[in-house]
Amino acid sequence: MHNPEFEAQRIIDLKNLMPDYDRPHRRYNPLKDEWVLVSPHRTQRPWLGQVEKTPALILPEYDSECYLCPGNSRVGGVRNPVYDSTFVFDNDFPALLPPDDTQPATSDLFRAEPASGISRVVCFSPRHDLTLPELPLADVEQVVRTWIDQTRDLGERDNLAYVQVFENKGEMMGCSNPHPHSQIWATSFVPNEPLREQRAMLEYLTRTGGCLLCDVYAAEQDTGERIVLENDGFIAFVPFWAVWPYELLLISRRHFGALTDLRATEIRNLAELLKQVTIRYDNLFEISFPYSMGFHQSPFDGEPHPEAHFHLHFYPPLLRSATVRKFMVGFEMLAMPQRDLTPESAAERLRELNPLHYRSRPK
Ligand SMILES: [Zn+2]
Ligand SMILES: [Zn+2]
Ligand SMILES: [Zn+2]
Repeated sequence: MHNPEFEAQRIIDLKNLMPDYDRPHRRYNPLKDEWVLVSPHRTQRPWLGQVEKTPALILPEYDSECYLCPGNSRVGGVRNPVYDSTFVFDNDFPALLPPDDTQPATSDLFRAEPASGISRVVCFSPRHDLTLPELPLADVEQVVRTWIDQTRDLGERDNLAYVQVFENKGEMMGCSNPHPHSQIWATSFVPNEPLREQRAMLEYLTRTGGCLLCDVYAAEQDTGERIVLENDGFIAFVPFWAVWPYELLLISRRHFGALTDLRATEIRNLAELLKQVTIRYDNLFEISFPYSMGFHQSPFDGEPHPEAHFHLHFYPPLLRSATVRKFMVGFEMLAMPQRDLTPESAAERLRELNPLHYRSRPK
């Protein structure tokens, strides 16, 4: 479906892409239309294998103080049911409220618009201590099905244009409760990040006749060097333009836009990859690995979105050990993101990790 001129250029580009990335260079992110500075000469030394371990935090299966555990009461006195699967509720302190008739004051210079929506919490299971990598696969599948049901419920509503599913994991990411859960914020508008990517994918479709992420998928399979894991439905790789040290992008093999388009086999494929990817993450420094992750899907704004390709970002902050994190400060805050470790090296390191979770291995 590509125009021939673009196809010829794509083949030349691939041939020229022989890895020679040991000097400083910048890489372009076509999803966000921005650049990242890569300074690999600062990490030319081989990996020293030095891991600063923090004492393993052993959590109980149930915590009477946890407001997400079954049967416990939340702020405001609402009591959770004694749930035995996933459990969804409206956030007790929602960032978004239902629409009303008020209009914020606005001008050309100080522009404001009404913003409404719904925010929900999805507990992965009754178990206080089991994160995605340690949850049985059938339970991870149930989490995916819950995200799908929620997306359908919220996406069908007239006053909502986008459904953002995300998980913020670990104190380092500002997550205050260790009980494994994700959040869903559905908004009356398309938020910045998906809007920006949507525009980039549409521009690419218009220019080349093809889908940006279908092409990225094919190109990553051609080289293979940034792939960490793959199965019949999805590929997980460190993107060429990754900013965070061990950032991952999961792309569906098939072209479709939203969680609600997943087929039964793809639900299983996605659950498997989620579990396997998070096992590698935990094994990297042998800790419960912190990250923010979330899906990007088609807007639910009533328009067809042929350019939209379903995917999932993982943005983990850790760099060299359980305690050394990457900060986005200084040059990064004022100029552009920068990294030392190349995405190719990060992918290699993740790929070589044990596929069994470190806590489930015999000592
Ligand atoms: Zn709990
Ligand atoms: Zn596609
Ligand atoms: Zn995205």
